[in-house]
Amino acid sequence: MPCYKHYWEFKLEQEKINNLILHLKKAYPNPEIELDYTSPLELLVATILSAQCTDKRVNIVTKTLFNKHRTLKDYFTVNQSVLENEIKSTGFFRQKARSIVNCCLYIQNNHGGKVPKTMTELTSLPGVGRKTASVVLANGYGIPAIAVDTHVIRISNRLGLVNTKNPEKIEFALMKQLPEKHWGFFSNAVILHGRRICKARKPLCNNCIIKDLCNYFKNGGLVQ
Ligand code: SF4
Repeated sequence: MPCYKHYWEFKLEQEKINNLILHLKKAYPNPEIELDYTSPLELLVATILSAQCTDKRVNIVTKTLFNKHRTLKDYFTVNQSVLENEIKSTGFFRQKARSIVNCCLYIQNNHGGKVPKTMTELTSLPGVGRKTASVVLANGYGIPAIAVDTHVIRISNRLGLVNTKNPEKIEFALMKQLPEKHWGFFSNAVILHGRRICKARKPLCNNCIIKDLCNYFKNGGLVQ
């Protein structure tokens, strides 16, 4: 005999997801990441630089950097200390410079000089994790992927879509709940929503277009 309770729970969850997408699409019809780039390679470099740094700062740095380094070879042949100096203001510059140089060399040697297009290949690159790989897949190639950053972690929990702070668990839970065609849209829209409305310390719930779907709002701000 079918379990009607689970069936209705499933239907309600589906309805919530559909409404969520609908409302987010109204507020953020065409959400784009705020990093400047013109190619998958530039996006990869900018995303590596964006760790623990604002997109605004990264864009200032890459404006000069991308003019100077136009090809993969430009990055893996540059003296690492020169690159460190060029990206210094983004923080963790030694580690980031090492990642960029090694990453570009690896792409040259193993992927014929082209930034790869799969999660497995991207996460095999030195210094590239699932979040960076998802940003490149979704925004550089239009391939469905969910980048889980601090905003996606916070908002997915507040909405009640997940109950964990583990980025990988959140990514897989969201992939299970959301239709694949909305993956890239969802993470870009939620990141913008986190920056503008659903702020970490003081979320602007009264101005929020998805408050009716939010557990945090329904519980009077009692879930993080
Ligand atoms: S209602 Fe508040 S907590 Fe919920 S998503 Fe909107 S801003 Fe964030």
